[in-house]
Amino acid sequence: MLIVLLTSCLLSCSQEPITCHEFMMDTQCAITVYDRADEKYIEQTFALIRDLDDRLDRYDEDSEIAMINRNAGIAPVCVSEQTFEIVSRAKALSEATDGAFNPLLGAISSLWAFDSPVHEVPDAALVSSLVEHVDIDCLVLDEEHMSVFLTDGVIQLDLGAIAKGHASQMAADHLASCGVERAIVNLGGNVYCLGSRSPGEDWVVGIQNPQAATGGYFATVRCSDAAVVTSGSYQRHFEVDGVDYHHILDPATGWPAESDIVSVSIISPDGALADALSTACFVLGSRGAEDLCRRMGVGMLVLTSSGEIIRLDA
Ligand code: ADP
Ligand code: MG
Repeated sequence: MLIVLLTSCLLSCSQEPITCHEFMMDTQCAITVYDRADEKYIEQTFALIRDLDDRLDRYDEDSEIAMINRNAGIAPVCVSEQTFEIVSRAKALSEATDGAFNPLLGAISSLWAFDSPVHEVPDAALVSSLVEHVDIDCLVLDEEHMSVFLTDGVIQLDLGAIAKGHASQMAADHLASCGVERAIVNLGGNVYCLGSRSPGEDWVVGIQNPQAATGGYFATVRCSDAAVVTSGSYQRHFEVDGVDYHHILDPATGWPAESDIVSVSIISPDGALADALSTACFVLGSRGAEDLCRRMGVGMLVLTSSGEIIRLDA
């Protein structure tokens, strides 16, 4: 899941960059600040991400998402502005991707339990019965009361495919509001590049080679003030009886998406968009991914199972 960053500080840098790490949002997070390099800005940013994680973690029974899920089919739940914003975004992006990204797969992703140390292929009939309920119209948002209602008691919210991209953007925005002009936020491979590497020179982000040990990369992406978010079948997966099962699900079947893509990176100034689209593109496969990225005006880098590299500039 790690993305290698090829960064260097030019001789003109007046300060050494500072990097801090923390485990949050179920992944290793790192922030590097290249100017105004003061740890306090990073600490504040980590606190904001932790707060968002506390609201969105569906496995924490005190979180707002857990509360929405507990009240599925029962009642609307009033939530904070932060939670309402990301849930609204998730609904809009599900519609924009014709459902390839769908934030209502929680009940099915719980069955697959990719995060659990014990792996079992779920019962096919159970998956089929659950997938019939996955309908984005069952996610009802009331802007006036800032409430979220799952009108079907069987569906559950899972923001796993959008939360880290959204958080990386929030982190970059906060650093910018502190006057930081150049920083890299890396939330488990969801990278946000704030500013540029040096005047007129883009940051260079290495994209992990799925076949190589962590640290190797198969291509690089150049960008400034943009998120680079990668989804891949190599990131979280398990094998049972010689069959490999990965964590990106086809919302139409509830099974790991059968895709010709091994890794897809999306490049966009909008972190939540980049994250949701990386998952949607994986589900759609390389042809559909290219069409979607053209339509949404984002950059794309795909590695297919036959080893082809497809690039699309924003
Ligand atoms: P990662 O979280 O590893 O960076 P993704 O952004 O692609 O990878 O998100 C995958 C996670 O999102 C899964 O672990 C699952 O919780 C959820 N998910 C799986 N398939 C979909 C999908 N088609 N639409 C929305 N969420 C999904
Ligand atoms: Mg994603």
